Amino acid sequence: MKSLLEQVEEVRRSFEESAANSTEQLQELRVRYLGKKGALTTLLKTLGTLPPSERPTAGERLNEFRDELERRLEQKRLELRNAENARQEAAERIDVSLPPRGRRAGAFHPVTQTLHEIVGILKGMGYSVALGPEKEEEFYNFEALNMPSWHPARDMQDTFYFPDGSLLRTHTSPVQVRSMLEHGAPLRIVCPGKVYRRDSDPTHSPMFNQIEGLLVDKDVSFSVLKGSMEELMRAFFGRRLKSRFRASYFPFTEPSMELDVECVECGGKNPSCRVCKGTGWLEVCGMGMVHPFVIRSGGIDPDRYNGFAFGMGLDRMAMLKYGINDLRLLFDGNVSYFLAGRDA
Ligand SMILES: [Zn+2]
Repeated sequence: MKSLLEQVEEVRRSFEESAANSTEQLQELRVRYLGKKGALTTLLKTLGTLPPSERPTAGERLNEFRDELERRLEQKRLELRNAENARQEAAERIDVSLPPRGRRAGAFHPVTQTLHEIVGILKGMGYSVALGPEKEEEFYNFEALNMPSWHPARDMQDTFYFPDGSLLRTHTSPVQVRSMLEHGAPLRIVCPGKVYRRDSDPTHSPMFNQIEGLLVDKDVSFSVLKGSMEELMRAFFGRRLKSRFRASYFPFTEPSMELDVECVECGGKNPSCRVCKGTGWLEVCGMGMVHPFVIRSGGIDPDRYNGFAFGMGLDRMAMLKYGINDLRLLFDGNVSYFLAGRDA
């Protein structure tokens, strides 16, 4: 029969040969050697078979062995934990020297950018933004602007009417009347917004964006209007463009004119230019001295005050500035328009 010491040596060897590569395996090892039916417990049970004189020494020896096993298990536990920590650190390692992923920032719609630019320029000239309803009354959209029901100008604009007789505004000019009635004179406002007309083809949309300005004060002169518009165009297009004023007609201004600037695409040098159709000029802005009738509609005495107004298509300005050649690109999500435009 093997001596107790020999048996201890045997258990130690088998313990040294067993590996524990995970917490579960370590727990199995603990059960196998220190558990109720473990190797050490089995050895302890043999103590009673020894002669009484040998029991204390043997007991002491087994206790030492148990301590040793405990120590070794603890050591294995620490090794496992350190290995696990190292693995985790390697997996979670952050390379702070890597360049950051770029942010995909959105951008403002070209019409919105154009709106911000024009409003910004006019604010610098002392104008403040005024807004009005898109569902308008006939009075503000037509009557107050010198277009009574019999006026032929009403035939020029095909209008969306509601059953109650109100309408979708056909221009931003009703805001002029509303602002004059609300604030009186002097007044300097810029009115951007959506307007609606029964019109739909590649160059017309039933909804489009206008921006217009109104200045009412004492002794306002035509030359101030011309100078203001030239400065607006210079600031908007970023350079001084050749310009010309043409006599025109609007019911709400007298006299009226239109501003043309040299073609931003070809500068008037390309007879087959698609943007100016070879004319070298672009119509950009309608304007005039506010008709005394309109001043009076706004509750202001036209004998004491006069003023000028100007208006332009925001969408057209955006197309000219950003080289967009199809109006539908501004409002439609259909990418094929874009691709078609780019190939052309
Ligand atoms: Zn041109």
